[in-house]
Amino acid sequence: MANGKINVAVENIFPLIKKFLYSDHEIFLRELISNATDAISKLKHLSSIGEVKGEIGDPRIEVKVEKKNKKIHIIDQGVGMTSEEVNKYINEVAFSGAEEFLEKYKENDKDSGIIGHFGLGFYSAFMVAEKVEIITKSHKNAPAAHWTCDGSPEYTLEKADKKERGTEIILHIAKDSKEFLEEARIRELLNKYNKFMPFPIKFGTKEENLPLPKDAKEDAKPETQTVDNIINNTHPAWTKTPSELKDEDYKSFYRELYPMQFEEPLFNIHLNVDYPFNLTGILYFPKIKNDLSLQKDKIQLYQNQVFVTDNVEGIVPEFLTLLRGLIDSPDIPLNVSRSYLQADGAVKKISNYITRKVADKLNSLFKKDRKAFEEKWNDIKVVIEYGMLTDDKFYEKADPFMIYPTSEGEYLTYKELEAALKDSQTDKDGKLIFLYASNIEEQHQYIETSKDKGYKVLLLDSPIIAHLIQKLEGDKENIAFARVDGDAVENLIKKEEATVSKMSDEEKETLKPLIEAVVPIEKYTIQLEAMNSKDLPFVITQPEFMRRMKEMQQTGGGMMGSFPEMYTLLVNTNHELVGQILGSKTTKKRERLIQQALDLARLSQNLLKGEALTTFIKRSVDLIK
Ligand code: ADP
Ligand code: MG
Repeated sequence: MANGKINVAVENIFPLIKKFLYSDHEIFLRELISNATDAISKLKHLSSIGEVKGEIGDPRIEVKVEKKNKKIHIIDQGVGMTSEEVNKYINEVAFSGAEEFLEKYKENDKDSGIIGHFGLGFYSAFMVAEKVEIITKSHKNAPAAHWTCDGSPEYTLEKADKKERGTEIILHIAKDSKEFLEEARIRELLNKYNKFMPFPIKFGTKEENLPLPKDAKEDAKPETQTVDNIINNTHPAWTKTPSELKDEDYKSFYRELYPMQFEEPLFNIHLNVDYPFNLTGILYFPKIKNDLSLQKDKIQLYQNQVFVTDNVEGIVPEFLTLLRGLIDSPDIPLNVSRSYLQADGAVKKISNYITRKVADKLNSLFKKDRKAFEEKWNDIKVVIEYGMLTDDKFYEKADPFMIYPTSEGEYLTYKELEAALKDSQTDKDGKLIFLYASNIEEQHQYIETSKDKGYKVLLLDSPIIAHLIQKLEGDKENIAFARVDGDAVENLIKKEEATVSKMSDEEKETLKPLIEAVVPIEKYTIQLEAMNSKDLPFVITQPEFMRRMKEMQQTGGGMMGSFPEMYTLLVNTNHELVGQILGSKTTKKRERLIQQALDLARLSQNLLKGEALTTFIKRSVDLIK
């Protein structure tokens, strides 16, 4: 029997550990199981090089909860330790690590979000235990050792009579950590951190049906037997090579990762690189809804099959956090803050690699089966558009597969669009005008009018599209976007002959003040225009620039400051009703006509609401009475 004092400068290290790690107590189990896994890996390695003789079998780990005695056992069949090794690795190495850790984090406990990601090691056991025992028997021919420590720097180390090779850690759970004596809690932790670890982890037993005998009656109940309950899949899909896996295997792994997710992923990307950094993983494209905030934080980060976190911010490019799946890399430093992570060279390389793989995959899907790609477009466009907007590398790569759907059900690439519009949809300087609608329902009337005139209308309805348009216009010199209900439509060279005005200049001069007397001129700039007689009498357009700035503000970014609500009211002097307005006998009748025409125009811009809408309905009823 030996007594000793752990050589640490701090008199009692454990209250400090508790304090600093308050929110992450649960990781003790992950750390101890990781050590057990390491011990088995070492044993397998030693056996493979002949240093451990004989069969080693199929070593495993077992977790046991003894609620009554307030104990948790973590038992492995790994290399084990001699008492010299306990002295060295536990008393010296592990605790010097503890000290170093505390030194590093004493100052910045505010940044505690990162602490849970730090490999805390063996001493994290003291976050939940008031006493810890190690009973261990080395693979070498040496007596077993029994180490006990109650959280003060004093420990005891004596001989034990453990016969089989391996290590048992016994945690005497402290009063404030009773939650970990609940089986359900431990199962939850095993499921979170250890679901894909490489060696079998046993937790309790379960009943399993035996196969029915061949001559069994139809209503016969199968016999059951009690078997070990192994909680992990030791060979998860991402550790295999893509050639070993079928589409169905990827899908079933998706269900394993997200048991509560019923919708199938659209496609997957298998990541696999070992130089200049080590990274494996599978990313899935889910169907993405327009509410971006709900989608994030679904990618999981693992290190050597141990779950670390589902916050991959700073590691995976921002726009790809909309995807699902996991990445596994031992090369991501986790003991640093997020802002540092983004500046880290290795992490930057990893992030660029992921971006490139995703772009390549999209490109090959597009090339291989364009039709299928088009069908998925609505579900994946947000990721692509978001990526183009925020990641210049991706922007460059996305050009060949970024798709612009039209109101006619076509899906055109930029190149194809350019070719289609070059002779038919330009302004007077030869710039291509990309007419677009952001909402088919609300802008229906404008879309129809544009289609009637023979223009192509794009359907661009993502929440971030205003930002992307701004970027595309800045990047590509010869295009301008114009929303169908915006004033920029005016820049289009008209296809039809300039419509001849039916109204004389004199009549127009009389008309304008009459309209201005009814329409609130602080909101509407009135413009008389000889349009097609089939167009509406009054048409409202919004200044393209102003509307875009507003949209960009709503989704973050863009210019600051508030923009006034300003519209242009086009009065179609060729319309019969406008003629009637000019010719009406009484002021009352004229004002009613103007008001009605204005409200109809507002209605088609979705601007008629509340009291104004009620008044409009009343007036309309009066008119048809
Ligand atoms: P790390 O795992 O990063 O080396 P730990 O504090 O977790 O740090 O563990 C310290 C050392 O204690 C390990 O490197 C290993 O040598 C030894 N050790 C811990 N747990 C076991 C175990 N279950 N079996 C054998 N050795 C162990
Ligand atoms: Mg460890």
